[in-house]
Formats: sequence, C-alpha cells, structure tokens
Amino acid sequence: MRIFSGVKPTGHPTLGNLLGAMQRWARIDQFRSDDPGDALFCVVDLHALTVPHEPAALRERTREVATLLLATGLDPERCTVFCQSHVAAHTRLTWIMESVVGDGELRRMVQYKEKSARQESVSTALLTYPALMAADILAYGAEEVPVGDDQRQHVELARDLAVRFNTRYGEVFPVPRAVRPPAGARVMNLQVPTDKMGKSDDTAVQGIIYLLDPPDSARRKVMRAVTDGGREVVYDPEAKPGVANLLDILSACGDGTEPAELATRYASYGALKSDVADAVVAVLEPLQARYREFADDPATIDKILRAGADRASALADPYVSAAYDAIGLLPPR
Ligand code: ATP
Ligand code: MG
Repeated sequence: MRIFSGVKPTGHPTLGNLLGAMQRWARIDQFRSDDPGDALFCVVDLHALTVPHEPAALRERTREVATLLLATGLDPERCTVFCQSHVAAHTRLTWIMESVVGDGELRRMVQYKEKSARQESVSTALLTYPALMAADILAYGAEEVPVGDDQRQHVELARDLAVRFNTRYGEVFPVPRAVRPPAGARVMNLQVPTDKMGKSDDTAVQGIIYLLDPPDSARRKVMRAVTDGGREVVYDPEAKPGVANLLDILSACGDGTEPAELATRYASYGALKSDVADAVVAVLEPLQARYREFADDPATIDKILRAGADRASALADPYVSAAYDAIGLLPPR
C-alpha cells in the first residue's frame, strides 16, 4: 500500500504540524512495506503560492520544512522525501482534476472560506488548491493520506474526484482515504483554544509553539496557556477547550494514553501544565538537535531532495500518462 502526505512551507512548522502529521509519518514503519516508493512525503511548495508570499522567504521555509522532515526521523533510504515543484506530474495532473471538479465544490471547502475571508484579494490558486492536492495524491496512486483533521475535507474531495474520473473515463486511480492520528489531530492555539494552531497565523502567536522555538520559550507558552473556568481537570473539548487541548497534546507527546484517562491523574491546572511543558520539551529537544546536524549540511539536503524527486517522477509519470490517455488527449508519438 502506498501513502502520500505533504506540508506547506507557508511559515515555521508548529507543534500542530508535528503531532497531527509529521510525527506520524516518521512512525510509518508499522503500517507499510519496505519499498521507499510506497511512502512519499512532500514539501508542497506550490501550495504556498496560494496566499501572499515573499520569494526569498519561501525558499528559506522550503529548506527548513525539508530539514525538519528529516529531523523527525524520516529515513530517505526507506521513504521518498521531495519538493512538489521538482516533479512536473503534480501540475500536469492538476489541469485534469480541474476539468472534473465543479467550481461549487471548490467554493464549499472550509479552508477556502476561512482563508479567503482573511484576505483582501484572493488568488484563483487558493480556490483551485484542492484540485492540486487531489493531483498530489492521485499522481502516485496513493491509498492512504495521513493528515490532521483540517485536511480531511480536501482528501474527501480527492476521493470523490478519483471515483468520478474512474467512472467517466475508466479505472486509472486507486481511491485514497484520509487517516488521522489517535491524538493530536487538531492541536489548538494555546491562547485561543477554539482556533486551530496554524503556522501561517499572524495573530495569537504566543499561543503557537514552533518546532524550532527555544525550549524555554516553548515551556513558557505552555505555562501561559489559557485554561477554562473551574478548577477540575476533565477532558471536555466543548466545555473546557483549553484543558482538553493540553490533555490532547500530552497524550500525543506521550505514550498514547487517552486524554480522558490522563485527566484523572491531575488535581490542578498547574500540575497539568507543568507536565505538558516537560512532554513538549522532551519532544522538541532531540528534534532540534537532529535539525541542527542537517542544517549544517545543506548539500546533503539538496541531494536527498533531488533523489526523491527523481524517484517520485518515475512513480507518477505512468499515472499521469494513463489519465491523459483515458481522457482523450492524443499521446505524442
Ligand atoms: P497554514 O496555516 O499555512 O495552512 P498549517 O499549519 O495548517 O499551515 P499545513 O501545511 O496546511 O499546515 O498542513 C500540514 C499538515 O499538518 C496537514 O496534515 C495538516 O492537517 C496538519 N496540521 C496543520 N495544523 C494542525 C493542527 N493544529 N493540529 C493537527 N494537525 C495539523
Ligand atoms: Mg493548513
């Protein structure tokens, strides 16, 4: 079985990205084969063009995200780590996806509504983003897409488009499905626990733990997290979103003990926060040490991305050719 997932270089990656997605990818051994082509992890840089950006910063973030992926423990010998814009198949298949998706479907996407509401002028790319994301997944015939909760709707759409394409033009694509982590699928902002922690957010940044935050600063952010009324530690995401978020983080950083079970171990918010801070720092420190090793060696990162893109292209081209052929485009002879 093949899995694909990606992260956008739109900002400094956060604890949400790690717990909801990247940490999971590094633990793929449990649910996949030994073939490095069966697990593809991508820095989806083309997706970063959907919102206003600065070219030099984008190049820097792309390197940072690629380096962090390796620092989480992804082994480039056992999986394929690459940069989306290095593989032409993604954009070649996007046009095909745009021809099978309805504009109403794109306008209904929650992320489009949220992100477009925050901007004065909205690019067409922000609207068609899910068509590119469907192409990202379908270009490899990926069956599983490990993502956080906020990306589930886009994976559902990719699923619908695979089925629609296959029904109209003949079986080309396996039908993918989203897989979510048991805890940490939706890490909330520590200052505004009703909002998702997002790397491109520019408000409530004190509630965002960046993966490269100095450990002291990460600890401070946890200790200053907004908690809820009352004093009892219970897991109730509706009534106590702040405490529930801390319990979710603790569960995802620890051995997987359920958040509700963890709640029974605490008599005060202070003790809970202190354990969450320790758990977060224990995750960040080794990650940052590995990041520094790789960051000192950019040539190795370039080589890994290059080899990854070559392997990814070889895997994607047959799917794209099959789709072009099935839809009626005359093959070059
Ligand atoms: P942006 O604000 O630019 O959308 P983001 O933080 O949402 O950035 P993405 O690149 O969109 O990050 O998503 C990368 C992966 O991280 C996806 O699988 C997404 O579901 C997951 N993810 C993002 N934010 C969170 C979060 N707060 N909790 C859990 N998973 C998350
Ligand atoms: Mg996002």
